Amino acid sequence: MPDPFSAAPRIIEVAIPTPLRRCFDYLPGPDTPVQGWQPGLRVKLSFGHRDMVGIVVGTKQDSDVPTSRLKPIKALIDQTPLPADWLALCRFTARYYQHSLGDTLFQALPVLLRQGRPLEARTLDRWRLTSRGQKTSAEQLGRAHKQAELLDMLRQHRRGMPHTAITAQGFTRQQLEALAGKGLVEVHTEQAIAPPRDNHETLAEPSLTLSREQSEVLAALHAQLGRFSPSLLHGVTGSGKTEVYLQLIEAVLHRRQQALVLIPEIGLTPQTLDRFRRRFNVPIVALHSGMSDNERLDAWEAAGAGRARIIIGTRSAVFTPMAALGIIIIDEEHDDSFKQQDGLRYHARDLALVRAQSEHIPVVLGTATPSLVTLRHARDGRYHHLHLTRRAGHSRKAHIELLDIRGRPQDGGLTPPALEAIREQLALKRQVLIFINRRGYAPTLACHQCGWLAECPRCDARLTLHRHPPELICHHCDHHVALPDACPSCHSGDLRPQGSGTERTEDALATAFPDTQVLRVDRDSTRRKDALQHTLDIIHRGDPCLLVGTQMLAKGHHFPHITLVVVVNADGGLYSADYRALETSAQLLIQVAGRAGRAEHPGRVLIQTHHPDDPGLLLLAEQGYDALAERLLVERRQAGLPPYRHLMLLRGESPHQQNLLELFGRIGEALRGHVAAHDIRVDCLGPVPAPMERRQGRYHVQLMLAADGRAPLHDAGAWLVHYMEQLPEARRLRWSLDVDPVALD
Ligand code: ADP
Ligand code: ZN
Ligand code: ZN
Repeated sequence: MPDPFSAAPRIIEVAIPTPLRRCFDYLPGPDTPVQGWQPGLRVKLSFGHRDMVGIVVGTKQDSDVPTSRLKPIKALIDQTPLPADWLALCRFTARYYQHSLGDTLFQALPVLLRQGRPLEARTLDRWRLTSRGQKTSAEQLGRAHKQAELLDMLRQHRRGMPHTAITAQGFTRQQLEALAGKGLVEVHTEQAIAPPRDNHETLAEPSLTLSREQSEVLAALHAQLGRFSPSLLHGVTGSGKTEVYLQLIEAVLHRRQQALVLIPEIGLTPQTLDRFRRRFNVPIVALHSGMSDNERLDAWEAAGAGRARIIIGTRSAVFTPMAALGIIIIDEEHDDSFKQQDGLRYHARDLALVRAQSEHIPVVLGTATPSLVTLRHARDGRYHHLHLTRRAGHSRKAHIELLDIRGRPQDGGLTPPALEAIREQLALKRQVLIFINRRGYAPTLACHQCGWLAECPRCDARLTLHRHPPELICHHCDHHVALPDACPSCHSGDLRPQGSGTERTEDALATAFPDTQVLRVDRDSTRRKDALQHTLDIIHRGDPCLLVGTQMLAKGHHFPHITLVVVVNADGGLYSADYRALETSAQLLIQVAGRAGRAEHPGRVLIQTHHPDDPGLLLLAEQGYDALAERLLVERRQAGLPPYRHLMLLRGESPHQQNLLELFGRIGEALRGHVAAHDIRVDCLGPVPAPMERRQGRYHVQLMLAADGRAPLHDAGAWLVHYMEQLPEARRLRWSLDVDPVALD
C-alpha cells in the first residue's frame, strides 16, 4: 500500500558522539523542520538512558531495527542545518581517518554547540554618543562634572562601550542614565564580532614595498585566486613570507572573500596575530585554546556568517565554516603540531588541501624547511614551487658551524669554545641564544659508585632532575618523586646529575657571566600567564643578555639583536629509531638558526655535536636544509618509506605485556590472511613493542601497514577496524588506528 505521507521520511539517521563507527536510527519527533529533515540539523534525543545531542546525517524509509523499538527524536535544535561543506569535510575526515562520524562531527564543533546551544550571533549592548552628544561639549554640562567626564570618555570610544566597561572606569548607571535623559547618549546593539563602523578602507596601515622576488611570488599567487591550486612557498626564514601572505589576503578581501590562516601555535607567537591586526581594518578572529567557550562560539558563528573576514587559528581551525572562503594559508607547514596525536588523528594540512579542492580555492603552504611530503608533491609538479631565497631588508643569512665536543670539558652542556664565542658577542654588546631541547636541571640523576640511574617506575624512561622545587619528574607520565638522600641500590651518598637541561645551562651561564642577565624560556619558566611576554619584552629592549630556551623559542619570533645561536646538542635526531627524526631535527635546527642575524649584524650558529662527521649533519651545515632534504628523499625512496609509500599504525595498550603481544600477533595473522585472500597490495609488519614499550604502567605494541597506493591501504584499514570492533578480546584493551602517522612511538 502506498504511504500517504511519502514526502515525510519515516526514519532519521543521526550521528552521535560515540566511538562506535555507525549512525543510529530514530523516528521523527514532535517538531518538524520547516525545510525538511536535512543533514546537518542538530537534535536532542535519548541514547541509552542519557539525553544527548545528535546531528542528522540522512533519512530513509526503512530501518533494520523494528519500528517499535525505535525512539522518537525529542526536539529540534536548529531550523537551519550546519553548513553542507562543513558536513562534507567531516564526512571525508571520518572516512579517511577511519574514525566514528559522530565523534568527528562533535570534535569539529565548538563546545557550546556540542551541548546544544543555538547557533546565532550573540549581541552586545554598547553605549555611545548620539549626534547631539557629539556636538555637546563637556563645559555645556555645567556642574555635572562626572557626566562631563563620561561624555568625554565616550567621545574617545566611537564604537561605544559596554556598560561593564563604563562602570569599571568608576562611573555609575545613574550618570549614564542622566546623559541618556538629556538625549546625549544611547544604547546601540550590535552582533559580536561586527565590522567596523564608518570605515570602508581594508588596510589600516600601508603595505610594504615588495622586493622583486616577493613581487614575483605574489603575482604567481594572485593568478591562482578563484580556483583550486596548491603552492609551496619555500622561503628562508625572514625572507618576507608573512608580508606576501598579507598582500595576498588583501586581494582576497577585495574579492569579498575570507581568508583562513593556520599556524602552529598562537600563544607562543602573538606577534603574528598582531601583524594581521595592525594591517587590516576588518574583523579578524583568532581561534586557539586560550579562548572561552563563548568566544569560540562567537568566532565560529561570525566566520560562518561571513562577518569575520580573516580567521587565524591552530589545527582545529581547519574545520571552521566560512561563508565565502577565498584562500587557505598554512604557515610553517612542516610543523608536526598540525597533526592531532590522539583521538581523531587528523592532519590539518592534509585536510586543508582537501577543503581547498572542494571549495575551488588556492592553498599556500609556507615554510623555510618543507616537509618531505610537501617537497615531493612540489617536485612532482602537483604543487607550484615558489621560492624566496633572500632575506627581506638587509639582514644576512646565518653561517652554520659544527663544533666537535668529543673529549672536551662541559659546563652546563657548553664547551670552552662555545663559551668563548658567547663572551665575544657579549663584549660587542650583543645578545646570544642558547638552544637546548631539554627542560629541567639534568636529564637524569646517577650514582657515581654503582651506576644506578633514577628511572620512572611506570615508564621505560629516566626521571628528569628539577631544581625549583628539587624533585625527580617523569616527562612522559608526569610522575613526581622526592630526591633520594642516598643511592637506593648501594646506599652511597654520591648521587650526581647527568647531562644538562635548561636550568643547569642557565646556572652555568650565570656563573660564567655574572654581569649579564640570563633569561630562561621553557615550559616551566612560562607557566605563569604573561611570563613569556615579559621575557620577550626584555629581549626586544636590546640590552646584551643571554637567552636559554627550548624549542618554544624556535617558532616565529624575530630577535633582531641576537647575533649568535649556540645549539647545545644536535645529536638527538641522528641515530633515532624513528625514520623522520633527522627531517624534524634538521627543520628545528634551521628554525633556531633563523633567529640569528636578523638585523644588520650577520649571525653565527654553533652546533655542538659528538658526530661532526655525520654526513647528514655536514650536509645541513655546509649546504643547507634543501640539500639535506634532497638526499633524504632519495633515501626514503630506496627504503620504501613515506612520502613514497603510505603507512598506517595500529596501536594497542594494556597492563599485561604477554597477552598483548600474543593478541596482536593473532590480529596480524588475520590481517595477512585477509590481504592475501583478496589480493590487496598491503604489507603488514610486526607486531613490535613500541619504542617506549612501558608508559604509565601500560605496555604498548604496534602493527604497521604499508602500501604503495592509498586505496588498498584504506581497504585494509577499514577491514582491520571492523575486525577489531568484532574481536571480544579487543574490548579489554585500548587501541587506535593512526593513518599517515607522523611519529612511530
Ligand atoms: P618570514 O615570514 O619569511 O619569516 P617576514 O614576512 O616576517 O618573513 O619578514 C621578515 C622581516 O622583514 C619582517 O620584519 C618584515 O617586516 C620585513 N620585511 C618583509 N618584507 C619586507 C619588504 N618588502 N620590505 C621591507 N621589509 C620587509
Ligand atoms: Zn649506587
Ligand atoms: Zn613515567
